[in-house]
Formats: sequence, C-alpha cells, structure tokens
Amino acid sequence: MTDDEVLREVQDWLAAHWKGLPAHHESFGRDPRSEWLAQVRDAGWAVPRWSRDWYGRELSNDQARIVERAFAAAGAPGAGQDRSNLWANTALAHATDAFKRVIVPQLLAGEVGMCLLYSEPGAGSDLAAIRTRADKVPESEGGGWRITGQKVWTSGAAVADYGMLIARTDWDVPKHRGISFFFLPMKQDGVEVRPLRQITDEAHFNEVFITDAFVPEANLLGPLNGGWGVLQTALAYERSVMGDNARGPRSGAGGPKGDHSLLGLAREAGKLDDPVVRQEVAQVIAWRVLNKLNTRRAKAELAQGNSSSIMSLGKLAMSRILHEEARVRTLLLGAESLLEGPEHPRAEDANFLALNAYFTSIGGGTDQIQRNIIGERVLGLPREPEVDRTVPFREVRAG
Ligand SMILES: Cc1cc2nc3c(=O)[nH]c(=O)nc-3n(C[C@H](O)[C@H](O)[C@H](O)COP(=O)(O)OP(=O)(O)OC[C@H]3O[C@@H](n4cnc5c(N)ncnc54)[C@H](O)[C@@H]3O)c2cc1C
Repeated sequence: MTDDEVLREVQDWLAAHWKGLPAHHESFGRDPRSEWLAQVRDAGWAVPRWSRDWYGRELSNDQARIVERAFAAAGAPGAGQDRSNLWANTALAHATDAFKRVIVPQLLAGEVGMCLLYSEPGAGSDLAAIRTRADKVPESEGGGWRITGQKVWTSGAAVADYGMLIARTDWDVPKHRGISFFFLPMKQDGVEVRPLRQITDEAHFNEVFITDAFVPEANLLGPLNGGWGVLQTALAYERSVMGDNARGPRSGAGGPKGDHSLLGLAREAGKLDDPVVRQEVAQVIAWRVLNKLNTRRAKAELAQGNSSSIMSLGKLAMSRILHEEARVRTLLLGAESLLEGPEHPRAEDANFLALNAYFTSIGGGTDQIQRNIIGERVLGLPREPEVDRTVPFREVRAG
C-alpha cells in the first residue's frame, strides 16, 4: 500500500463512521467511548503497526503516523494505541495466547477498567522489595494462585475490573528473581479498596487490601518468577505515556471559554509585549516541543523492540515542564492566582495545575529515580550500591 492509499482509506473510513462524541475527561474505569473504540479496533486503526492477527494492519511507522494524523485532524480518539496503551502492549507481549484472545480486544476498546497494583507501604521506589505473596493453589483444588498483601497509591482501583499485580512467588531467591506478574480480577471477595484523598481534593488513588484473593492460572503473564522483566515492559510504556501527555486544567470543557494555552493566557492578561513574560512563555513552549521530539525518538526505539532509557528523560522533562508551566501561569495571573473556586476559573486552573504537577514527579517513579536510571543506563555511571541485591529475600531485613 502506498502512503496516499493509506491516507485515502483512513480519511474515507473516518468520513463514513466518525460522528463525534461528547467530551470525555475521566481516565479511569470502563471507557464511555468504548462503542466507538471497538469500531476503530475492528477496522485496524487502533494498532496499525500490529499484525493483522492482532487487530493491526502491519503498517510501517511512517504510515501508522499518517493514520494517527488523520484521526487527530478529525478530532477522533482511538488510533495509535500500539504506542500508548500500556495494558494492551504488556498483555500482547507477555500473556498466554488464550488469555490474550480474551483480554487484548477488550483493552483496545476500553471495555475493561484497569489499575496498577505495584506500590506497597514498604516498596515504592524500591519496587523489588514487595511483600504481597502469591501462593500456588494445588491442582487437586483447582489450581491458580491465592494472593495476600497490601498495595497503596493505586490509581483507579475503585472502578477497575483488573489490576496488573506484582507479587512474590519465591522467597528463597534474591528480590528481583522471585516476583511474578498477574492480571488480578478486582471484583471479588478478598479485594478491598479504600480511597485516599489527594492534595488536589480528588480521590483517584486508593489503598488496596488483598486477603486470599484468587487469580486463575491463565492470568500469569510471562514466566513464573520472571515478573520483573514483564514489569520493565509495563513501566517503559507507563513512562512513555507520562512523558508524552499531561492532564489539562480541571475546568476543561465545563470551565472558562477561550484559549487555555499559556500564550492565550498571556494575551488575555495583556502581557504579551512584556519582554520578561515573553521569555518565560517561550521557554516553556520550547521545552514542550523539544520533549515531543525526544519522546518520538524514544517511541521509535521501543517500536524496534528496545526498552528505551530515553523514555526516562521524557518523563523527567515533563515533570519539570509541568511545574514550570504552573509557575508561569501563576506569574501571569499575579495576585488573582490567590483566588480559588468556580468564580475564578483561571486561578482555579493555575492552582490545580501547580498541585497536580506532583502526579508526574512522583507517580510512575520519582524524579530522583528517573535521574538514577539516566545516570546508570544512559550515561553509564556506576550503579547505586544495593546491599540486598544478592541476598535471598527471606533473609532481607525490613522494618
Ligand atoms: C498521583 C500518583 C499516582 C500513583 N499511582 C500509582 C498506581 O496506580 N499504582 C501504583 O502501584 N503506584 C502508584 N503510585 C505510587 C508511586 O509509583 C510511588 O509513590 C513512587 O514510586 C514513590 O514511591 P514511595 O511513595 O514509596 O516513595 P519512596 O520510595 O519512599 O521515596 C521517598 C523519597 O526518597 C527518594 N528516593 C528513594 N529511593 C531513592 C534512590 N535510590 N535514589 C534517590 N532518591 C531516592 C524518592 O525519590 C522520594 O523523593 C502513584 C503515586 C502518585 C503520586
């Protein structure tokens, strides 16, 4: 197929099918756009780089980008998930064929809500220190796995159908080698979700208490005790998404009309001619453009099967950009930024963005950890000392 043929086909398809959707801002749970997303999936546009056997069209990177651009031009969501859907990508790479047949199509259409069950009270940055356990149920009792432990900071857990879970399956080997990766069904006795309130006054993340919950054998991803490798795939996709996208202002669709960009705000405030303001605004815009180019480079590496360390640069950069952008918004608003509430939507936005910037600098691995990754894997600096790296986990002291 030539580039022109791809473009014509996708444009014709969009012209015949795309009728628009109501605005959608909630990123957790079953996707209300799933009817549309299922059509996109069945037409092969959701994952144009993937094989035809897996809902794709086997297009090259350049041709897949033609598809993504056509969707963006029409304002239609759903294309290019082969780069962005961390759940579907992780399942495709590591799940058994039987489980993939069930879960991948549902993930591409947003028909199931998902959450990440990684962090624990004693295992955040040092994720390999997890103590949630998965014990094998004997075949005579039906097989599968029984899970017990506590997770924390679990975004979306209250509405999720499945959690991507890491749990310890071997306590007699060093910490990275005794972990397995599961798709845990969330809607069952034994999984209790308790919301935590955030600084933004939202309650997107939760504590999850797991007591004798059940995971069928088919939901084990990758080899038994090889979950650390599966986790690296999932984390790389997560970083890529966080380095690429940033949440918009809370007032979004329902809030103030007009241009939400920094430039729009500077214009509205009558400060576009102020040389200091121009510098500040230009700096943030330049960083955003640079970060987009960098992320594109990282995604190209990922598409070739290399787990890209450049992705950590993107996530770290996005975290700095979001803090900077919030600072410049506050500067543009001046004393007005001290106000809050729906009568002051610009100030509400600026304050929300300032507080929400911490999402990207903590979630998915903190800035400090990204710096470690960049130091060790990109710059080749010596590894951080890790005294428990070779000790059987059962003997590692915790407290
Ligand atoms: C908005 C949000 C959403 C989240 N969503 C999820 C989710 O859905 N699922 C999930 O599993 N987790 C989630 N998390 C948890 C997140 O991944 C962890 O908070 C993060 O990995 C940090 O772990 P911690 O909170 O235990 O901090 P700690 O690991 O205790 O770190 C405390 C501080 O010490 C620093 N530090 C620790 N070790 C080192 C080191 N070796 N070198 C340098 N500095 C170091 C850290 O950078 C940090 O500043 C979320 C967090 C946030 C804020």
